[in-house]
Amino acid sequence: MNPPIFILAALFFFDISMIEENHFIKSEFKNNKWLKEAVLISNDILDPDLGIKLKFTADISAAKNQHLKIIPITLASQKDDYMIYVPEEGDKIVVHPKKLKKYLDFYCKEDQLQLGIEIKYICAVMLLHEVGHIVNGDPGSFGLGGPNPDFNREDTEAKKREFLADKFAAQQIKAVIEKGDENFFGWNTSIAVSNFVWNLSKKRMIDNFGETWSVFWDQSYSHPNLELRFLIMQNELVDESLKEDSQELINQFLKSRESAEPYIYRKN
Ligand SMILES: [Zn+2]
Repeated sequence: MNPPIFILAALFFFDISMIEENHFIKSEFKNNKWLKEAVLISNDILDPDLGIKLKFTADISAAKNQHLKIIPITLASQKDDYMIYVPEEGDKIVVHPKKLKKYLDFYCKEDQLQLGIEIKYICAVMLLHEVGHIVNGDPGSFGLGGPNPDFNREDTEAKKREFLADKFAAQQIKAVIEKGDENFFGWNTSIAVSNFVWNLSKKRMIDNFGETWSVFWDQSYSHPNLELRFLIMQNELVDESLKEDSQELINQFLKSRESAEPYIYRKN
């Protein structure tokens, strides 16, 4: 094969693979309407002055825009352990729709115990949290606790970064509500956070009966306790008149966490 044809062939195959990848991403996006809507909700909530927009795409270079900082959302590989994260490079958000949906359904599906929550709103909170990592310049914190919990109550730098990214998400939601133009998505996301707190506390009280200490501890050294994180976000979001009550919920949780110790069998 002479060189020009070889180069053309290489370009052709490169283009085809890009098209296939883009097509796959588009179909995943289409099949996961909740994810598409979560992106719309996040974009609607993000402060326009930040100039940041999320875009579902396989082609990071195509996301470049002169006026806006586009953050591409790409798909994780099927083998990826994590459901949503910003890689070390801090240039995109990677999602694993199947894993993410399973996780969200677990906490958001209505049953005798739980309130039904539209998963797109909690997914939007997670996307805003990931934007927080990019804005704060601390990408690379993966997952939300691993499959093999390593229970602890230690304060780590990584956990501090998680709280800061949560704070960013909550402040974006709060700001759009306070603008006073009755941002529909802002309100619904804020309500979803409160309902999520309710579901987490119900799960803690019922599902973990008999082994309560572990639900108050952190499941990894990178991420704080999920319920504590949402209690703090709820406290950021509630109206002034409810601040005292929501702070009391945090205090109660911390008190229980303080005294929650694993049961140690003692021989007489
Ligand atoms: Zn994080």
